[in-house]
Amino acid sequence: MHAIGIDIGGTKIAGGLVAEDGTIVRQERRATPAGDGAEIIRAVVEVVESLRGAEELAAVGVAAPGFIDAAQSTVYYTPNIPWRSEPLRADLAARLPGLDITIDNDANAAGWAEYRFGAGRGHRDMTLLTIGTGVGGAIVTDGRLLRGGFGAAAEIGHMRVVPGGLPCGCGQRGCIEQYGSGRALLRFANEIADQRGIGQALAAAREEQGELDGHHVYELIVAEDPGALYALRELGGWLGQAAASLSAVLDPQVFVFGGGVAAAGKLLLEPIREAYLAHLPARGFHPEPGFATAELVNDAGVVGAADLARTHANA
Ligand SMILES: [Zn+2]
Repeated sequence: MHAIGIDIGGTKIAGGLVAEDGTIVRQERRATPAGDGAEIIRAVVEVVESLRGAEELAAVGVAAPGFIDAAQSTVYYTPNIPWRSEPLRADLAARLPGLDITIDNDANAAGWAEYRFGAGRGHRDMTLLTIGTGVGGAIVTDGRLLRGGFGAAAEIGHMRVVPGGLPCGCGQRGCIEQYGSGRALLRFANEIADQRGIGQALAAAREEQGELDGHHVYELIVAEDPGALYALRELGGWLGQAAASLSAVLDPQVFVFGGGVAAAGKLLLEPIREAYLAHLPARGFHPEPGFATAELVNDAGVVGAADLARTHANA
């Protein structure tokens, strides 16, 4: 039976009618109404209604950014949308009678899609790190998504790697997000550009464009510019160290890395693996996990939300 997945993002609400094998049968998109939580709920209802059609549905899964409670009912807090302790599940259920609705954090939904239909396929234990502006994560352990006792598990980006390190948006210091994110990669690239030497091409791109952005750095990575590769290795080194600590706790069979920079493939995975092996507790006695880049770049949130809702409805 098909299920509907909805991914509420800062700029768009994406929806899909999703088959059991993860393929999207029909899709629908709306701009996210700015700054109005009630309008967003109305838009989500519209997307569900337009995707619904005449056939029977297994369930509706809605993925939203931010903290969702362990009962998957309430959005405690979400950045960019004015929801504070918003009873999203009840509000949607009231407007969509007869449908089985579940809500999940968007990173968890995307991670679940990767586990079921992407790079995590065939494993029972997967840890996903998404390298975006920040660092997001999702953890599947023994075939289940790890949500935690309060629903706030897998905030991997806020694992501390440097005591007293750089300040983080979460109010703490030294989180991996400050060393392993797209923003950190730009910082490394700028530092290398300042030193000239291998940073010449980065410095030239910066002079030409006014400032470096992720796109310039990525282009230089693909061209195997030594300065850009050095910045990428620095990023990979931090991520590999973090993965080693995660192994001590979660022991995944595979680490999957998503986000724009993951398109660098092996150029990113090699330094991650090297740093992982160097920092692994009891190194030499631990089987080596897989290191892979995410396969479901687009629509992972939609596919994962639908599949989680179906799994939940069948449980
Ligand atoms: Zn933090």
